Amino acid sequence: MNEKSYERLVAADRAMLWHPYSAIDAATPVYPVASARGVRLTLADGRELIDGMASWWCMIHGYNHPVLNAAIEHQLSDMAHVMFGGLTHAPAIDLARRLIEIAPDGLEHVFFADSGSVAVEVALKMAVQYWRGRGRPAKRRFVALRNGYHGDTLHAMSVCDPVTGMHTLFGDLLPLQFFVPPPHAGFASGVDEGDVAALEQVLDGHGGEIAALILEPVVQGAGGMRFYSPDYLRAARALCDRYEVLLIADEIATGFGRSGRLFACEHAAVAPDILCLGKALTGGYMTLAAVMTTHALAQAIATGDPGVFMHGPTFMANPLACAVSLASIGLLLASDWQADVTRIERGLTAGLEACRAMSHVADVRVLGAIGVVELSQPVDMATVQPMFVERGVWVRPFGRLVYLMPPFVIDDTELARLTAGVADVVGRLVVESGRCVPVGR
Ligand SMILES: *Cc1c(COP(=O)(O)O)cnc(C)c1O
Repeated sequence: MNEKSYERLVAADRAMLWHPYSAIDAATPVYPVASARGVRLTLADGRELIDGMASWWCMIHGYNHPVLNAAIEHQLSDMAHVMFGGLTHAPAIDLARRLIEIAPDGLEHVFFADSGSVAVEVALKMAVQYWRGRGRPAKRRFVALRNGYHGDTLHAMSVCDPVTGMHTLFGDLLPLQFFVPPPHAGFASGVDEGDVAALEQVLDGHGGEIAALILEPVVQGAGGMRFYSPDYLRAARALCDRYEVLLIADEIATGFGRSGRLFACEHAAVAPDILCLGKALTGGYMTLAAVMTTHALAQAIATGDPGVFMHGPTFMANPLACAVSLASIGLLLASDWQADVTRIERGLTAGLEACRAMSHVADVRVLGAIGVVELSQPVDMATVQPMFVERGVWVRPFGRLVYLMPPFVIDDTELARLTAGVADVVGRLVVESGRCVPVGR
């Protein structure tokens, strides 16, 4: 594709399309992608970028993977879709069986939803219906961690961090939930007893109204890219048991190896009552999410009023999405993914270390295949985004966070180019009127 059609795509996009968290005709650039293979994106004008984002946690095996392509093509020859009301199919059954095998113990039932946010809605509704079934309908509110992120639909937003989660904007449209401080201690720092006490205080005072605690185990993603101690998760599980509150683990970002364990709950050897999966579930090919629960929970919903779980998406358990998920999990488990994640962790740690001494860098942290450079001020996206593209890397900062979570198949040379790109760009930023902008602009 030539330069002219590249510009035409950009202009047409600007005239018609919204992008995530953007405005029509925004000043921030968009880059037309023509194709992608492995860890490389090819732009419509032929430029190649090494992908540092795995398309927001999803693309763990890289783009255009022959095994995943084949899984979809094979399923396509049978059927692309069929309604799940009253009908079923092997891709959904096989995927459910596989998820139950690999998920934390006790999660025996699967509800397939369309996206992460919908999975969170489903999980919250399940918790409410569970307590109704148990004869305790007053338990219908939720407690969440500050700095959390659980999606963009209204009820999911209500359990996101109240500041970054747009609570002011949507005001009284959002149900009021309980919030506790985010665990302060880092991944390896043990648990801060004050954080546990704060959670206990809310559960002790309001347990009669609270259906569930929802959290992202060990890694808080879009709400701040923070890592916290598995000891906190263990303490939270114990408190939920003591105060009769369900634990919902949102592993939409962390599931499928990203944090160094297949599921982040495994760091603490705990199992939630409800588990949400999404993002990398399909290897990034399609949208699909899964909500997994214990038998006790499913049973309480079945015996309560109205005796069924009240949710049923049109595209529930889409066969193409189930088939590619099954193939993706097969690929992951057949690979030495733990060695890959450890290798990436080492590469991120070494490559991002140079940023630590910079005066506008507040913190550098790495866990599994996640590397974060936290700046003291937000980046100016309109000027900083092109700097990454000029260096042949795809990095998409948000707010004060410049972070990497590459596909697990990235090799050491590509990873070094990625971290060098980040160190070089961050090194050329200065703080000006409260933003990180390119020096000498
Ligand atoms: C991305 C994400 C969601 C929302 O998923 P969508 O598919 O974007 O709706 C929810 N929770 C966490 C932890 C996420 O990272």
